[in-house]
Amino acid sequence: MLSLLFLNPPNEFHEPVGRDLIYGCWCHGKRVADMQLPPLHLLYLATILRELGGHRVRVLDALVQNLSLSAIAEQAKAFDAMVIHTSNTTFRYDLKVLAAVKAAKPGTISILTGPHPTVYPELVMQEGIVDLAVQGEAEDTLLELFGKLAGGDGLADVAGLVWRDRGKVVSNPRRPLRPNLDEWPFPDRSLVDSSLYYNPHSRRSPFTTALTSRGCVARCIFCTSPPFYHGKFRQRSAANVLAELKTLRDQGFREVLFRDESFTENRKRLRAICSGLIEQDLDLTWIANSRVGVLDEEDLRLMKRAGCFYLWVGVESGSQPVLDRLRKGITVEETREMFRMANKMGINIHAHLMFGNPGETKEDILQSIRFLMEIEPAAVDIGITTPFPGTPLFEQVKAKNPQIGDGSELQIDQVHNIAFFSRHYCELDEEFLENALLLAYRRFYLRPAYVLRYLRRIRSLRQLLNVVRAGFNLLLYLFRDRRN
Ligand code: SF4
Repeated sequence: MLSLLFLNPPNEFHEPVGRDLIYGCWCHGKRVADMQLPPLHLLYLATILRELGGHRVRVLDALVQNLSLSAIAEQAKAFDAMVIHTSNTTFRYDLKVLAAVKAAKPGTISILTGPHPTVYPELVMQEGIVDLAVQGEAEDTLLELFGKLAGGDGLADVAGLVWRDRGKVVSNPRRPLRPNLDEWPFPDRSLVDSSLYYNPHSRRSPFTTALTSRGCVARCIFCTSPPFYHGKFRQRSAANVLAELKTLRDQGFREVLFRDESFTENRKRLRAICSGLIEQDLDLTWIANSRVGVLDEEDLRLMKRAGCFYLWVGVESGSQPVLDRLRKGITVEETREMFRMANKMGINIHAHLMFGNPGETKEDILQSIRFLMEIEPAAVDIGITTPFPGTPLFEQVKAKNPQIGDGSELQIDQVHNIAFFSRHYCELDEEFLENALLLAYRRFYLRPAYVLRYLRRIRSLRQLLNVVRAGFNLLLYLFRDRRN
């Protein structure tokens, strides 16, 4: 048995980062509303290593606890190995965290998982303080790895592992994805303090997150999910999901945020989950990501009865040519229809937009802003399109601009806020895009009619407090001094 620490590191800006998506597009969570979610990816790993591997585990969320490097290093001393999930935007700072831990206890085995080692295993292993790295989904690879380490066995046949054989970096063959996600235990939420987390859209507390599927059927060229999951979409059975939801309810949770790329993708499964929630009277409210063009009014009606009050949807643009270039696989008309249906049903619907897309013009951006006002989302967040390593968009940019390297020079405080790469594929300059972002936010949020409409939808004191906090952060973001 080994003692294993699963660490969610802080970042140098000491600000929230939405880092729990397993495939890993990390947003600068402070950007709009200060969201801070439990590190579900680490809860999965730790639970599986404890339940199926028999190891002693701890999850340390140093981000939400705002721990210093020395405090992390002190706590890490008690463990044989430490696992950090890293992305290209957090990699440089994560190395500093590793260095602090290694300085305090050089024998700690350091292991990196996540999109950065998945895309650049050799580069990651060039850093001497990284002992091992995992490519792709880490659960089964870590399970086998720690079994081998505990037994003193060799690592040559651990699929998915990147290691050193007498100083030479070796990338073992990639591990096939586990087909049946029902085989894994439910992540143990008691490994972190649920009261520390904050979702501005939450209606009830305590809330937690869940993941009922992995991957996506769509192929958007900017998204890291399809490459991370080999283009596969896997889902847990409705019965397995309902069993987890019942467990959560019995543990006292009253609300669930589903982190699936699209929780509603399989309508048959969706209806079975909703019917189960209603029949078992689980009394959970929930929020989920959905995809345009999938649901009809009947689905939405059932979802609402089952506790759904908020949907997040990737709208990306109000311009069809832009959507087509992104290979979004949806039409502007389908988006319009989805927002019409959700608003009619009284389900809050959140729009995610992106500016600075391939071939985008000023008129496209203005069209997107007009479209936003027309479809009337409950809330909106807008990012400047960022090509992440591993995505088709990154490869397009890199083919013409090899100087962007591995993308790790991009820091977390810049992602989606600052236009770095869009000059390679659209005519809009950085200043225009950054101003357009602020203009769109101001036009959308600072309308008295919008504020009144949103306030009318508030159903609980918890929701009111969350909205006040989110509104305060939004105003700080919109009006902070950007001259420096
Ligand atoms: S629909 Fe969403 S999750 Fe799926 S590929 Fe597109 S951006 Fe990624």
